[in-house]
Amino acid sequence: METILVLAHTETGGSLAQPAREALHAAATLHRTLAGSQFMVGLVGENIQAAANSIAACPATKYLGVSGADFVPARYGTDAAAAEAICRAAQATVVVAAATARWARVWSGVAQRLGGCADTHVTEVAAADGRISLHRWYYRQRMEGALTRTQRPWFIGIDPGSQAACDCGAGTATVEMVTVPLTAAAQRTAVTGIREPRADAQTIRPDASLLFVTGAGWTKKQADGQAHLAEAEKLILDFLRKSRASLGSSKSLVDLSGEGQSVLPFLSHLNQIGQTGATPRHAKGLSTCCHGEEPHTVGWRFINERRAISLDPNCGWARGKADVLYVADAFKVMAKVNELLAKAL
Ligand SMILES: Cc1cc2nc3c(=O)[nH]c(=O)nc-3n(C[C@H](O)[C@H](O)[C@H](O)COP(=O)(O)OP(=O)(O)OC[C@H]3O[C@@H](n4cnc5c(N)ncnc54)[C@H](O)[C@@H]3O)c2cc1C
Repeated sequence: METILVLAHTETGGSLAQPAREALHAAATLHRTLAGSQFMVGLVGENIQAAANSIAACPATKYLGVSGADFVPARYGTDAAAAEAICRAAQATVVVAAATARWARVWSGVAQRLGGCADTHVTEVAAADGRISLHRWYYRQRMEGALTRTQRPWFIGIDPGSQAACDCGAGTATVEMVTVPLTAAAQRTAVTGIREPRADAQTIRPDASLLFVTGAGWTKKQADGQAHLAEAEKLILDFLRKSRASLGSSKSLVDLSGEGQSVLPFLSHLNQIGQTGATPRHAKGLSTCCHGEEPHTVGWRFINERRAISLDPNCGWARGKADVLYVADAFKVMAKVNELLAKAL
């Protein structure tokens, strides 16, 4: 009989973020389809009662918690110790969590401590005839594999954005607290602060319905023989402000800064989409001034509707990579789009 444990860490303020609720949805669905399975929730954070109450109507029969100031920062030593202690207390055979940066860092280490195995980039977990199987992605999301394992405990890291969030209601949950024996070594890393861009400078928005991608064409000489970087910057930022789209980039454009050329200062390698970049999930994508080469379009795998604007009618987008290609000057098109958006807002 399987004991399914979903692990979650709380956010600042004690809430559960969307990825944690997605992992809960995946684990609860697995529990419902796996006859005889037990379902438990494990929570880690400064104070986990509010988080437990917010999901009290989920089908879990037991809530386990680790709380205290030691478990506020994302730190390998304490996060791994907390996860290990909860897994042992639950005697979990299947452990499901969102592949947040925080859990992804400790996932394989905890599996190793418990003699289990770990899978990442999981997008689907299901049970048939009493056997659990999962779907996961390999090779920068180019290949999908379906697999099952007999080794336990089985740690399953769910890719955020791949599931619906659980809609289980709130109530009052009784949480059984788990004591974590912390060594000095587990606490030796001190998190002294968080450096992050200003809120309005944050251009990567996983929840946006549109991914807006910029290519190197924005920096190239245009029909008048001149590059128009200032105009490009204004058009792009104006569009992002009005549309609240998430900003992606081709590798060529983000690489230009490394080569000392004048580029768009709000772009970093974190914006890069593709084989060596990110594979975000958005309902729609619009690519501008980008050629649509294969290593770049690999990153568009999970974009449902793809559109592109390029001057080149023979670009990669024209060869089956986009649903709609506008062979047009992106400077002109985006100026018009911004004008229309300004009227609509
Ligand atoms: C191993 C490997 C991994 C790679 N990984 C990635 C990756 O992860 N992500 C990635 O992006 N690339 C990746 N690349 C690089 C990729 O092959 C391309 O070189 C890169 O994506 C090209 O970027 P680009 O289309 O912005 O630039 P370009 O190829 O220079 O294309 C610019 C385009 O802009 C158009 N243009 C110019 N002006 C305008 C205008 N006014 N209006 C409209 N269109 C205009 C031009 O017609 C042209 O099509 C990888 C390459 C390799 C070998």
